[in-house]
Amino acid sequence: RESWASDSSDSVISSGSDSDGRLYKVILLGEHGVGKTSLARIFGGVEDCAEAEEAGNTYDRSIVVDGEEASLVVFDIWEQDDSQWLQNHCMKMGDAYIIVYSVTDKVSFEKASELRIQLRRARQTEDIPIILVGNKSDLVRSREVSVDEGRACAVVFDCKFIETSAALHHNVKDLFEGIVRQIRLRKDSKED
Ligand code: GDP
Repeated sequence: RESWASDSSDSVISSGSDSDGRLYKVILLGEHGVGKTSLARIFGGVEDCAEAEEAGNTYDRSIVVDGEEASLVVFDIWEQDDSQWLQNHCMKMGDAYIIVYSVTDKVSFEKASELRIQLRRARQTEDIPIILVGNKSDLVRSREVSVDEGRACAVVFDCKFIETSAALHHNVKDLFEGIVRQIRLRKDSKED
């Protein structure tokens, strides 16, 4: 099991801000039941139910990635209500996106592609960081989407790809560190 808190060399819990003072908004997208809330709660360090209720559905935290602190706010609001307004707002407000499907649910995988297309439409001229996430990799026997299919989809949609297991805390840390690296890559290339 990976743990963020004990790995003090690499991740720090604090309410500080990035070296450039920015707070990056990361939006979780995906079908119901794929594991968005589970991933967000691991990030926020609030898996405990009572704590989680208090946290609501945004989670902010600073993590150290490659020796530099970054502050992220993760929004788990995609399914909050069915309003078109909220969903449009989600598509516009993010600095980065995590599109989640479940490897045990082909329909959620197809939905992930739709979300990627919707996002591209909403942010046509921007090169926003997106990571496609195949969650529930621990459920080996009910797998419906292979790693290769996930990877191929990410190539087509020009985004990064990772498989995670929120249940086992596998690759969750890598996912959020990956988002920070993607944000930095684009920021650096803009500054050049
Ligand atoms: P959301 O609707 O996308 O926010 O999904 P949730 O985070 O609420 O998860 C839906 C269900 O899937 C819950 O019962 C979780 O415990 C379960 N779940 C989430 N991630 C995993 C995972 O990686 N492995 C397994 N086995 N179950 C998971």
